[in-house]
Amino acid sequence: AKHEGRNNFQIYEVSPEYALQHGMALKTRLRHAEGNGELRVVYQPQVDAKSEDIVGMEALVRWEHPELGMISPAVFIPLAEETGLIVSIGEWVMRTACLQAKEWEQRYGLRLRLGVNLSAVQLMEPQLLDTVARVLRETDLDPALLEMEVTESISIKAVPNLVENLHGLHNLGCHIAIDDFGTGAASLDYLRRLPADRIKVDQSFVRNIGVDPDDEAIVRATIEMAHRLKRAVVAEGVEIEQHLQFLREHGCDELQGYLFCRPLQPVSFDKLLAERQRL
Ligand code: C2E
Ligand code: CA
Ligand code: CA
Ligand code: CA
Repeated sequence: AKHEGRNNFQIYEVSPEYALQHGMALKTRLRHAEGNGELRVVYQPQVDAKSEDIVGMEALVRWEHPELGMISPAVFIPLAEETGLIVSIGEWVMRTACLQAKEWEQRYGLRLRLGVNLSAVQLMEPQLLDTVARVLRETDLDPALLEMEVTESISIKAVPNLVENLHGLHNLGCHIAIDDFGTGAASLDYLRRLPADRIKVDQSFVRNIGVDPDDEAIVRATIEMAHRLKRAVVAEGVEIEQHLQFLREHGCDELQGYLFCRPLQPVSFDKLLAERQRL
């Protein structure tokens, strides 16, 4: 279990092993998690690499189980995908986060970009575009502020609607980010075939800055390639000053990671924005 303090929703009392053993029971509970108000959305800032201004945020879901405590999305998202619950959970996360982004836009006059993760299961849904269009209409958020994060581990072949759905989302005015870039087998194919505006360099590369020259070379090459293709680059998992310096030096556009901020509950994120406003 991680112990980063309850305020940041970082305590995962349920291990992947537990989840494996109690998968059925968890799935049954998960069915009611949304209705029981046990789901939360936390927000992690993304900052401009030069100014360190907050320019965006990623919405990350949490499950606050009344007996088991906070359950990591790494544990319950796979269960939600197996059961198909991810479709309604994903819609709930999107709506909650869009409402929140709209609120912050109105309160602080800030147009922060909002990253929302999409699962392969959602991307297979023919109704995805209708759902996103409806959420945007109902929350009145500018589509240009919504960025869908699609992990590169999703196979273009295995998800027949993927390319079509992403073009559809792009046509709605949303942005697309390729998540976990460099970890799948299809990085370049993804870049060529999907309407991506942004690349998220995976944390496994960032972690090895200062450690593994090969990974450093991959990070530099990724930034260079992305820029030649006129895509922006965010690095995830920026934890120490050395990461920051390297990424800045090599022209990475934006940064996300514990060095700046952990994912925050809405009240804490709100405080952060209010403080920045006063500076
Ligand atoms: P991801 O999309 O790659 O999200 C980034 C993960 O890295 C988050 O973990 C975040 O808390 C963590 N992180 C951020 N900065 C740092 C850092 O500096 N160091 C380290 N070690 N980690 C950092 P989290 O919130 O536990 O989410 C895990 C994964 O669960 C996400 O990975 C994403 O794949 C999935 N997920 C989370 N929320 C959603 C959601 O609403 N829908 C879907 N489909 N998947 C989600
Ligand atoms: Ca993500
Ligand atoms: Ca990622
Ligand atoms: Ca990941």
